Amino acid sequence: MTQPLKLYNTLSRRKELFEPLNPPYVGMYVCGPTVYNYVHLGNVRTFLTFDTLYRYLTFIGYKVRYVRNLTDVGHLVGDGDEGEDKIGRMAKLEKVEPMEIVQRFTNDFHTVMAQFNTIPPSIEPTATGHMVEQIEAVQTLLAKKLAYESNGSVYFDIETYNQQGGNYGKLSGRILDDLLNETRELDGQSEKRNPLDFAIWKRASPEHIMRWNSPWGEGFPGWHLECTCMSTKYLGKQFDIHGGGMDLKFPHHECEIAQGDGLTGHDPVRYWMHSNMLTVNGQKMSKSLGNSFLPAELFAGSHYLLEQAYSPMTVRFFMLQSHYRSTLDFSNDALKAAQKGYRRLANGLRVVKTMSYRPDESVSADMAKQEDIRKAVQQFYEAMNDDLNTAVAIAQVFTLLKYVNMLYLNQLQPAALGDDVFTLLKESFSTFMQDVLGLKEEGSDNQPVLEGLLTLYREYKEQRQYDKVDQIRSYFKAQGLAIKDMKHQIDWAYEE
Ligand SMILES: [Zn+2]
Repeated sequence: MTQPLKLYNTLSRRKELFEPLNPPYVGMYVCGPTVYNYVHLGNVRTFLTFDTLYRYLTFIGYKVRYVRNLTDVGHLVGDGDEGEDKIGRMAKLEKVEPMEIVQRFTNDFHTVMAQFNTIPPSIEPTATGHMVEQIEAVQTLLAKKLAYESNGSVYFDIETYNQQGGNYGKLSGRILDDLLNETRELDGQSEKRNPLDFAIWKRASPEHIMRWNSPWGEGFPGWHLECTCMSTKYLGKQFDIHGGGMDLKFPHHECEIAQGDGLTGHDPVRYWMHSNMLTVNGQKMSKSLGNSFLPAELFAGSHYLLEQAYSPMTVRFFMLQSHYRSTLDFSNDALKAAQKGYRRLANGLRVVKTMSYRPDESVSADMAKQEDIRKAVQQFYEAMNDDLNTAVAIAQVFTLLKYVNMLYLNQLQPAALGDDVFTLLKESFSTFMQDVLGLKEEGSDNQPVLEGLLTLYREYKEQRQYDKVDQIRSYFKAQGLAIKDMKHQIDWAYEE
């Protein structure tokens, strides 16, 4: 485990050497979706980021337990302590059971995650499945006087927590007084002692559907509590990595720190990681602006802002082309460029599998190219170790692709690279792409056809026998494919 991986820790606001508590084991928790609606692209970006981190940690030898929850209760409209439950509200609107809403959108979420080729987490716990743990946590916090009951609800007491050595606000860098000014409640009717206090248990109003018995009457857990209970249950009272979208930093993750610290006396998380937001044509992506689209709309090209359909791997590639801490702007131009880039890589993947080493004593070693390949491989690791800089890592994969294509077109002989570097090129190119970046070939139905085409095309190129065009054409006719498809595939296969 000698990889000098550095990760940006939101808590310390700097890149830190990643040192897990119990190597080679790594515990990673990521806040999953609230399953009341279709997963939106901003969430997808977060899950792709942490899928890539999960893949990379595994790739460099760590044994990762990856926990990503499903929020199926307690997340209220407006993200605060008041209002309807997001799931309960949908259930009322559609006149179905809340768990039907949960099931439908959990299924959708899993479908979308599979389309983007993300690896399922090791454990995917739900908030409703951990009611006992949450009630026990509330009891513990009450016993420690870090929480108080008020009118059937229980609130976390920020002031007492800070008096006992806590530092609420340290993750988001917010100053308590500023926060107080921002959140001052005017009506004086609040159940809270301090406007910053947050609910860990809420009394259910008569019309609230999702409710459980508790020592404080019928109610439901506060949204922030589930992540504390489920992360520490499966990863321990202190664990390595906690991830999520930037929008969860405050108050959700700030509250998780206070709860975890309050419950166990330990800062729960060692490395906090946050992925940045998506914009569309430079504007924040939001439903109210009409510029937010769903993954399915992207795949079908059915949103009015989309000029065409974009495949899941195109979108994955597009998202990985920018660093996860930068904002990422969706535009047709950027997506089309990503489509081109991804297809070149995917074609490289297809052809690299057909290559094997051929010793040839008449070919002299090309030391410059060998060195260039070794350097690209090295720089791929360096980029990934530099806080998961996938943008720079992908540039190295393109360097490798250049040599894959040269080999394929016989502009470079395997023997010029030597067995070692040839194997390094072949294996690095496919493992970096597939195992680390999670990019796979798409449209595998056409794969045998395409392979046949490429074999014929190669012969044609090598022998300069232009009558081979007819062979390719009849091959395609036999496969029932249109000539335009063939031409299209050749064009992108050999773009430089
Ligand atoms: Zn969470």
